[in-house]
Amino acid sequence: MRSLTCIVCPIGCLLEVEEDTSSPDKTFDNLSVTGNRCPRGVVYAREEIRAPKRVVTATCKIEGETEHSVRRVPVKTASPCPKEKIPALLDDIYRLKITLPVKTGDIFIANWKGEGIDVAATRTIT
Ligand code: SF4
Repeated sequence: MRSLTCIVCPIGCLLEVEEDTSSPDKTFDNLSVTGNRCPRGVVYAREEIRAPKRVVTATCKIEGETEHSVRRVPVKTASPCPKEKIPALLDDIYRLKITLPVKTGDIFIANWKGEGIDVAATRTIT
């Protein structure tokens, strides 16, 4: 039995997950989930056990002199990244040097390493 908090919506249901240890291929298709108020909790629990992912937020350095006190641009992935790949993604994000101006939604990394993950600005800085 494993306990997870569903992070799909703000309700945050406490999920109790019975893992199917007899599943030789580790697909966890038959795991049983209780505590969810909607079906999305089951989908979340299955993905969290099989291949956990997270949306990544970070900041990037602004290149050159600016008139702002702001020295970094906040960024976010447009889709979740597999947890085990987050350190490598952060390395690439922290290597970026951004030239102003930037608009919310500007993409600094497109389709990172073929994973379909874009990294975009979450703030407009002119
Ligand atoms: S199980 Fe459904 S209601 Fe509960 S936190 Fe997840 S998405 Fe929200």
